[in-house]
Amino acid sequence: MWKNKQAHTGFSANRPFSNGEYMKVGFIGLGAMGQGMAKNLAKGGYLQAVYNRTCSKAHELATELTVTVYDSVQSLAEQSDVIFICVSADNDVMDVIDAIAATIKPGSVVIDTSTVGSNTAVRAAAALAGKQAHFLDAPVSGGVEGANKGSLAMMIGGDPAVLARVRPILECMTARIEHLGPTGSGQACKAVNQVMCAGINQAVTEALSFAQAQGLDLDKVIDVVCGGAAGNWFLQHRGKTMTQGLFKPGFKLALHHKDLLICREIAAQTGTAIPLTERTVSEYAQLMQQGYGDEDISALYRIKRKP
Ligand code: NAP
Repeated sequence: MWKNKQAHTGFSANRPFSNGEYMKVGFIGLGAMGQGMAKNLAKGGYLQAVYNRTCSKAHELATELTVTVYDSVQSLAEQSDVIFICVSADNDVMDVIDAIAATIKPGSVVIDTSTVGSNTAVRAAAALAGKQAHFLDAPVSGGVEGANKGSLAMMIGGDPAVLARVRPILECMTARIEHLGPTGSGQACKAVNQVMCAGINQAVTEALSFAQAQGLDLDKVIDVVCGGAAGNWFLQHRGKTMTQGLFKPGFKLALHHKDLLICREIAAQTGTAIPLTERTVSEYAQLMQQGYGDEDISALYRIKRKP
């Protein structure tokens, strides 16, 4: 109630929490997901500053949202109490963590929304603990659409007291927040999500090529199947584009491939069979070799469809 009132009055930044505490919020990584999340933080009245490796993106967004833009992550960290990260892979997260550790203020909270391994989350938390700063692994699901709408599902690992402190900020970008356990648990849950996405991608692309082979009207098939028990997010949001041969991301195939390699490691450690994931890894690798790594994961349909 309080949150909406503030947002609708156009209150832009440096907004107090219900306990009266002021926290300056900065966002690092304005890619497909980061853009939407940052915009929702701004809409909620929390965002103060942004940074992006490709500076032009950060300048453009900072102008649109009337927030500060920094040309280094160190400067952003120096001026922020809550720092969001949304970058590509494990080494990128650690590059950012190592850089911000130089200037971060004691008591600050770093929230990593990237999808990486649990072990990376543990390393990041340890690096920041040495600076008396807190870390939450907070990977998300819901796609670019969810990031834009502020309806992401967020899977949290870390200290529940730290989560309680930043929860009002997270609510600007989420429809659901779940605390899974200690540092790394959020990423462990995200790995489950990614294995499921691989299976769904296999099922949807295979079934639509099966429909294509029967000469059915694919738009009608997608519409009616979406309304029944086999309906799902991926079919609803990517079905019609993939069958038209459009594979604009969305979620880059190379990023899901990176996630599935993490899942493969967990499966080996736990003695779990994940054959659908294995098949997806090898088919993605084939597509990446053909130069389709920056396309949406629905480009798997390229392999399944009839020529
Ligand atoms: P993206 O569009 O490729 O954006 C990646 C962002 O990370 C860009 O802002 C990029 O900067 C930045 N970056 C990469 N390496 C960096 C480094 N070493 N230092 C600083 N910045 C760096 O990817 P995305 O789709 O937003 O995904 C971001 C993360 O969210 C990934 O971990 C992905 O797996 C996860 N995720 C994605 C989706 C989805 O549907 N897209 C859904 C859930 C989770 P530049 O602009 O300079 O390249």
